[in-house]
Amino acid sequence: MAAPGENMRVNADRLWDSLMDMAKIGPGIAGGNNRQTLTDSDAEGRRLFQAWCDGAGLTMGVDTMGNMFMTREGTDPDALPVYVGSHLDTQPTGGKYDGVLGVLAGLEVVRSLNDLGIRTKHPIVVTNWTNEEGARFAPAMLASGVFAGVHTQDYAYGRKDPEGKTFGEELQRIGWVGDEEVGARKMHAYFEYHIEQGPILEAEGKDIGVVTHCQGLWWLEFTLTGREAHTGSTPMTMRVNAGLAMARILEMVQMVAMENQPGAVGGVGQVFFSPNSRNVLPGKVVFTVDIRSPDQAKLDGMRTRIEAEAPKICEALGVGCSVEPVGHFDPVTFDPTLVATVRKAAEDLGYSHRDIISGAGHDACWAARVAPATMIMCPCVDGLSHNEAEDISKEWAAAGADVLLHAVIETAGIAE
Ligand SMILES: [Zn+2]
Repeated sequence: MAAPGENMRVNADRLWDSLMDMAKIGPGIAGGNNRQTLTDSDAEGRRLFQAWCDGAGLTMGVDTMGNMFMTREGTDPDALPVYVGSHLDTQPTGGKYDGVLGVLAGLEVVRSLNDLGIRTKHPIVVTNWTNEEGARFAPAMLASGVFAGVHTQDYAYGRKDPEGKTFGEELQRIGWVGDEEVGARKMHAYFEYHIEQGPILEAEGKDIGVVTHCQGLWWLEFTLTGREAHTGSTPMTMRVNAGLAMARILEMVQMVAMENQPGAVGGVGQVFFSPNSRNVLPGKVVFTVDIRSPDQAKLDGMRTRIEAEAPKICEALGVGCSVEPVGHFDPVTFDPTLVATVRKAAEDLGYSHRDIISGAGHDACWAARVAPATMIMCPCVDGLSHNEAEDISKEWAAAGADVLLHAVIETAGIAE
């Protein structure tokens, strides 16, 4: 380990070993993990993380949503903490790195500061947010959402898993209801280090993604009403074909997204044909349009355009059309000072980097509502995530952790 200065690095082997040890808890069936939130495996993962934090001299606080806050004291009693975190829960067929990397890299930053004998003015708090994935209890980023005031705790406690168990009951059952009021903590800054979950960094051979924005999104649910009719005996001129209208709307969504480059995306991932029989024209088609952009005006403009064009497409075919928004969040612009700090850290360390937009939601997107926040990303193989085959290299993991270390030191300030 080098002396304090620009060559400072985390301990890559220790970070990797910790990732591998955590991955032994709640193993998947294909080399990944099934450590869903508020399961016995989640509790076991939390205990391991707690033990490691104990070993690093951190003190634990837990709030009533089960969010874990592990504090390394600073030297200035008036200074607000610098938070570093992500989530230890996984998808049912999740990878070993999604979320886990951000939490354990935070721990590694603290361990490295301990090794180097560096004290910071601001405290550093390593955070594990409960239920980021939303796989067991929808929606995703539930506990950071309560922390940021997006949801109430009552709403969160009442969320049910597929077996009908509530979030509140299960949090109680695994023994992780803390005593701190959610959202009472104030943050000087929030950093989240995460795998990209997309293909851009690997394809371009970049070590580091400097995350400038989280995309905003709209989910628009369309219900098209046609007329069920025999596919063989109904002449083309006499059909009221809701399926054809759906196809034309999909084409239109594609065009609208392409016209809003760079950064915009749009598509349809879910379609229900009714009655969904191979020789019946559908009487009803329900589908969800998913549009995203980091630019608020563009995002809202795309929605307005799609909602104006779709009824015209349907009318020309005699098809009924209604639309309802069923999901939304605003784009997030990360704190320019923290973004610049991350970019400079990558630069100083000699890592290749590019600015990048997070296409997925993260706890950082909610934290940004209550604190200056930003993210750091590393590549992942083939952009694969939410998949047991999710993979990164030890070198990729360490590079982002090095950047995190430098950015945290810069923001927390080295004590005199
Ligand atoms: Zn994640």
